[in-house]
Parts: sequence; structure tokens; C-alpha cells
Amino acid sequence: MKLVAALKLTPSPEQAACLRATLVRCNEAATWLGQLGFDAGILGQYALHKLAYADLRSRFGLTAQAAVRTIAKVADAFKVNKEVAPAFRPNAAQPYDDRIMRFVQDGNAVSLWTLQGRMVISCTMGEHQRRLMAYRKGEADLCLIRGKWFLAATCDVPEAEPFDAEDWLGVDLGLVSLAVDSDGTAYSGEAVERARRHHQKRRRGLQKCGTKGAKRRLRKLAGKQARVQKHINHVISKALVRDAERTGRGIALEELKGIRARVTARSGDQRARLGNWGFAQLGGFVAYKAKRAGVPVAYVDPRNTSRQCHECGCIDKRNRPNQATFKCVGCGHEAAADTNAARNIRQRGWAGHRGVMTREVLAA
Ligand SMILES: [Zn+2]
Repeated sequence: MKLVAALKLTPSPEQAACLRATLVRCNEAATWLGQLGFDAGILGQYALHKLAYADLRSRFGLTAQAAVRTIAKVADAFKVNKEVAPAFRPNAAQPYDDRIMRFVQDGNAVSLWTLQGRMVISCTMGEHQRRLMAYRKGEADLCLIRGKWFLAATCDVPEAEPFDAEDWLGVDLGLVSLAVDSDGTAYSGEAVERARRHHQKRRRGLQKCGTKGAKRRLRKLAGKQARVQKHINHVISKALVRDAERTGRGIALEELKGIRARVTARSGDQRARLGNWGFAQLGGFVAYKAKRAGVPVAYVDPRNTSRQCHECGCIDKRNRPNQATFKCVGCGHEAAADTNAARNIRQRGWAGHRGVMTREVLAA
């Protein structure tokens, strides 16, 4: 499976200025070539090369391989859309390959082609990225994101052969807890919720203000909130997958499109939480981390998972006296609402794969 390792570069101010000039020049060249190719009706990589390789080198000062990568970038843009001449932002990412990029100093620095020749720039790699980088393919994109430099390297990570699950870890995605599993472990969304409230307050103030600077800060705020959420979703999905892997279980999730419909938002505040919380992202993270680890994933029918009694199977609206509690009107079984739902999801994961769950398994 293809994953991207984002390596943070830490250039000196002089190096950063040179990287920026390089990026701008490459994108000028790409935009120029895009217009040229579009006007001439020449869109393929090979034909574009014949058309403009020499010009790219002489007019824009690109080295052979930088020109080749720029041509490929333009050809890729035409693959996506043939109807317009592609225009590249000055900071658009620029592809590098092993002929113009080399990792040195045990991966703590990278030697990159720039307009001023080769430049050795230090980079930081976490443990996770180091593992990914063992599977690096030839290419990486030089990116400037929010004033910081990154190399985004595509890594083709082998997938583990999925094991045959004996049992399933049911996972209920919710509002109060972002996730609760059928063992009763709850993964709190408290940090995300705190950040959201904090940002909401600041957002109101900035919206009232309405100046240009306020608008810029608003955009920044939205990005910050998304990053908090993404980080939390990574932590939760990692813990869930590790737990399933350790205990030889698959992961059962509700089919995602059902979740919004099921969690009916009562108030404006709840709606805001629904809109903001990345259910889809968390589900996606669980799925890809599971795939990597060889943990099978079952998507189950989400209907009535929160209304059905895990003990007797009774489905009734009145089983939910309030948001947090489950109390069966049939058999009197009482549990935390999300734990009851997660157990139903576990059972459905089982039913989908092995026919009906036996009493022994239920008791386990
Ligand atoms: Zn019951």
C-alpha cells in the first residue's frame, strides 16, 4: 500500500531562500511549458520533452533531471485535465527523484538540487517515518506548507497477509467518546472538544472584527483545529488496531454512511460537533492501519446498533432513556449506551463472517 512520509526539512535562512527561488523558478517553467503544450496541442511527456527540453534548460536554468521532472509534472496535469493550460502556483510542490536528491548523514540530511547547485539540508525523521522510508520509491515532492519545508516521499509499504479473525473488536464511533470498543474501552474526544470550543470562541470574535487580518487568522484557526483532530484520530486508530492485533481479533465498524443518520443532532451545538468531528477520517485511519497490520476489518449494518439490547436483542426507542444510558425495556439490561452499541457491532461483525454468534462467544 502506498503511504506518504512527510519529512521536515530544517534549512538555514539562506538555504530556505534558495529553495524558495528554486520552487518559484520550476513553477514558472512548468506554467510556461503548460501554455506552450496546450497551444500546440502537445500533451504527452515524450512529445513535450521533444518540444521544450532544450528551452527549459536554457531559459529557466534547470538541470537535465529537473527539466525532466518538470516535464513529467506538466504531462501529469494534462492527464487530469486536457481542457485548460495548467497554471502552477509559485509554491506548488516540485517532484524530485534519486538523480537530484540523495539522503546523506544516515538520513539526517538530504542533498537537493537547487538553482545554486547541490545543497545539503538537514531533515528530521521520526521513528515512524524512518520505518516508512525503508520502502521509499524513487520520487519525493518538495513542498512549502505554511512556511515550513517538507519532502513528501511516497513509500510502497508491504501489506501483511490478513489473519483469520476468531473474534471481532466492535468499535462504536460517537460524540462524547470518539470511539468505544466492545471491551468497554472509551477513547475520549475531550482534547478535540476542548480545542473546538476554544477555537469557536476566538472565531466569533474574529468574525465580528471582519478585517483582512482577522480573516487570515480565521483561516489559520480552521487549520489548527483540523490538525488537533487529525492527531487524536491517529492516536485512537493506532490504539484500536494494536489491541485487535495483539488479541488476534478483527475490527468491526459501522458502515460509515450510516453514522451521520444515526447520531441525530439535537441542538445546534451537537450539530457543530458532528460537522467538525472527523468520523470519516477516524474510520479511514482505522482501515488503513488495520490493512497494514493484516487485521481484517468488517463493515456492519449500522441500523439500530444503539437501540438494540445486546443481551436479549430487543429493539426499542425507549431503550435509551438518555444519550448516555442504555436500559432495556424487555429484559432490564443496563449499560453505557456506547458500550452496548459496540457489543452489537462486534456481534454483527461475527454474524457477517461466521453465521450466528454462539452463546459461548457471547459470554466471553
Ligand atoms: Zn434486553
